[in-house]
Amino acid sequence: MTARRQIAAGNWKMHGCGADLVELAEIASAAKPLSGIVTLLCLPATLLDRARGRGVELGGEDCHAQPSGAHTGDISAQMLRDAGADFVIVGHSERRCDHGESDTDVAAKAMAAWDSGLIAIICIGETEEQYRAGRTEQVLAAQITGSVPDGATPENTVIAYEPVWAIGTGLTPDPEDIQKTHAAIRATLATQHAMGGKMSILYGGSVKPDNAKVIFASPDVDGGLVGGASLKAADFVPIMQALNASKGGNQ
Ligand code: PEP
Repeated sequence: MTARRQIAAGNWKMHGCGADLVELAEIASAAKPLSGIVTLLCLPATLLDRARGRGVELGGEDCHAQPSGAHTGDISAQMLRDAGADFVIVGHSERRCDHGESDTDVAAKAMAAWDSGLIAIICIGETEEQYRAGRTEQVLAAQITGSVPDGATPENTVIAYEPVWAIGTGLTPDPEDIQKTHAAIRATLATQHAMGGKMSILYGGSVKPDNAKVIFASPDVDGGLVGGASLKAADFVPIMQALNASKGGNQ
């Protein structure tokens, strides 16, 4: 791979029923001319099969570390792949917090994703307390060490940097801080993985149409992982367009 993938990724979380796929249709139609980016929607597993073949890349929101077994209510990477996904988010802070997932759990899920041919979007991010204590880079370096397994490459892995305090709050770090943190993440990846410096690193946390342009202007930001603003095409399409424009794609 030569250039890093530029990805506008939506994370619908626990939102969306069949009727909401009308939004996906609008997003897909707007994605068609955007040559410079990957448009990706990480959807509830119940929607994946119905969303496939409609013109956007699809991802799951989590997977189990095992390929199959007695795990009621869980979903395997292979099931996601079978339903049409090419990507899966692992280690989102809501999973780390609500389900007590550790870095070791996240690394196991990333490996399960690769085993099924999925690209793992591995999430890392500091809490507000860690941010206030000035420990962001230290915390992220430890999360990378623990959550990004040996064998990670720019082809099978995308990193999403999501400050926990920025998710769903309307708060974001200053653009200069986002660039500085992404550069630090890239440097850590480069020391730990042969091609680590070439991995795509997405920013996530309150990306909106009105701040997307300035966030995506940072050279080490390769796109966004977008929650709330990915649910409606009216919000997500301008974000996709801002990414495409920032990275020099055709409109
Ligand atoms: C997310 O779900 O990963 C996220 C960043 O959410 P929001 O964009 O709503 O802050």
